[in-house]
Amino acid sequence: MPTERTLSIIKPDGVARDCIGAICGRFEQAGLRIVAARMVRLSQAEAGEFYAVHKERPFYAGLLRYMVSGPVMAMVLEGEGAIARNREIMGATNPADAAPGTIRADFAESVERNTVHGSDSAQTAAAEIAFFFDDMQICPRDS
Ligand code: ATP
Ligand code: MG
Repeated sequence: MPTERTLSIIKPDGVARDCIGAICGRFEQAGLRIVAARMVRLSQAEAGEFYAVHKERPFYAGLLRYMVSGPVMAMVLEGEGAIARNREIMGATNPADAAPGTIRADFAESVERNTVHGSDSAQTAAAEIAFFFDDMQICPRDS
């Protein structure tokens, strides 16, 4: 499987409940290495742009309110098949449907406040990484 990079976000509920360390530990244990990290408080415009794909959806306004409600931790994860692997570790969007042992099963509060974001394809990963990070802010890990 090729080495890939994907964007992970610990959403405001995960940061507020001090779950950053526990969630990063799950990535590290799964062989996904953190190659960039930045805490940021998104503006309404930034959150709207990031989730623009959902702008016609009924949950869009609530999603933006939630995403700007506190700081988030944006990270680039690197590893074999990182995009799909991260989605597996996260679990289903709705924590009620998430497999036991996944981040959303263990930490998420609801389908909206579901603790983590992960890119869903190579194309979105590239765009989402560029949304948060310049190339110079990403540190390849060879050891
Ligand atoms: P993400 O894109 O954040 O990684 P996802 O790919 O699992 O999550 P999407 O369908 O892309 O799910 O939805 C984006 C986000 O919008 C969800 O993570 C969740 O925070 C919110 N959301 C999705 N569906 C609903 C819903 N039915 N009601 C409320 N919020 C929702
Ligand atoms: Mg999504």
